[in-house]
Amino acid sequence: MKVRHKIVSLFIPRLVREITAWAKSFADGDFSKRISLGARDEMEELADSLNSMSRQIQSRMEESIADKSRLEAVFLSMFDGVMVIDHKGAIILINQALRKFLSVEQETAGRKPLEVIRNMEIQAMAENILALKSRFESREITVSFPEEKILLVHATPVARDNRVDGADLVFHDITELRRLERVRREFVANVSHELRTPAATIRGYAETLLEGALEDKQHAGEFVRIIHDDARRLAKLVNDLLDLSRIESGKMKLALEECALGSVIDGVLTAMDKEARRNSVTLRKEVPPGLAKVRIDEAAIAQVLLNLVENAVKYNNAGGSVTVGARETPRFLEVSVADTGIGIPREDLPRIFERFYRVDKARSRELGGTGLGLSIVKHIVQAHRGEVMVESELGKGSTFRFTLPLAS
Ligand code: ADP
Repeated sequence: MKVRHKIVSLFIPRLVREITAWAKSFADGDFSKRISLGARDEMEELADSLNSMSRQIQSRMEESIADKSRLEAVFLSMFDGVMVIDHKGAIILINQALRKFLSVEQETAGRKPLEVIRNMEIQAMAENILALKSRFESREITVSFPEEKILLVHATPVARDNRVDGADLVFHDITELRRLERVRREFVANVSHELRTPAATIRGYAETLLEGALEDKQHAGEFVRIIHDDARRLAKLVNDLLDLSRIESGKMKLALEECALGSVIDGVLTAMDKEARRNSVTLRKEVPPGLAKVRIDEAAIAQVLLNLVENAVKYNNAGGSVTVGARETPRFLEVSVADTGIGIPREDLPRIFERFYRVDKARSRELGGTGLGLSIVKHIVQAHRGEVMVESELGKGSTFRFTLPLAS
């Protein structure tokens, strides 16, 4: 007994050193270290349970590190912006998407949302959630920096042990969605307006005729002519709208064929001959002989040329001219329609290809325009993988050009 006691007491300082070293590495975050004993003893039980504890802690730590990095990966790669704040309203973290939405460059940890995003509504949402004023808040917010954006923000509390420990704010960018909704609303409003005007005129004059003007030989002919013109305008508008919607919805299948553009130009110039004469405008064709063939949908490109030549005649002056030309480059054919007409103001140039955009609404209507001709031109050319360009000088004239792929 005495001898045994002696061995144990000799052994204890080494054991204490072992345990101390183990505890130190444990405190430093190294959970892999194990206690090793030189001799078997009852102290072995203590060492075993400490070792098993450290093994368990090590495996839990590894699991939690893996969970954390998985969460971080999801969080970083999310398309929506995310901000997490603590129970005092200070930011714990924000993800990359939110930094990009709002061009946040500075360090955010520990700051209030308002210091990072200069927006009172976002700050108010965070405060309401933390003060338990609401369980969930959702608002549409417009921010103007770095560019105008519409964000749908959802705020929810982070609860732990039945108390609010912080809040999550998720930011969804709906700028494009709202823009498309606005474009659609404007389009519907424009179409209704354009249809209403000729429809009202037709009805008005028809009623006047029915109410007795038919007997008034002097005016009846004039009224019928107005009805006829507006009925034509309505039909053209409906046709243009149908063309445009067919092209835009991708339903128009191009029937691509190798074709010589010269004959397409001839067809269009012949079709426009009467109209040009009526306006005292000369039509010219300047196409070099032996022009390479193009791969196009002939009817669609004839429509493009017709719309351009029609405009060039319409927005021209008596005695003016329209020249349709073509030239070959190594990769494509460039077609031009140049006129000596009224020209287009510089500030309107970027918008004339938009649906219903007209420099002078009254003049366009008077000339039977729908404001859709150039949008149709742009869509058809783009469907052929070409481009449309315009140059113009007010009072001197305009030149529209478009490119077409060469037949290989
Ligand atoms: P519209 O039916 O009004 O002619 P378009 O889409 O064809 O519609 O053209 C849009 C607008 O662009 C026209 O209303 C007109 O103001 C301007 N425009 C188009 N072509 C010419 C041109 N050759 N010369 C002057 N202005 C033009």
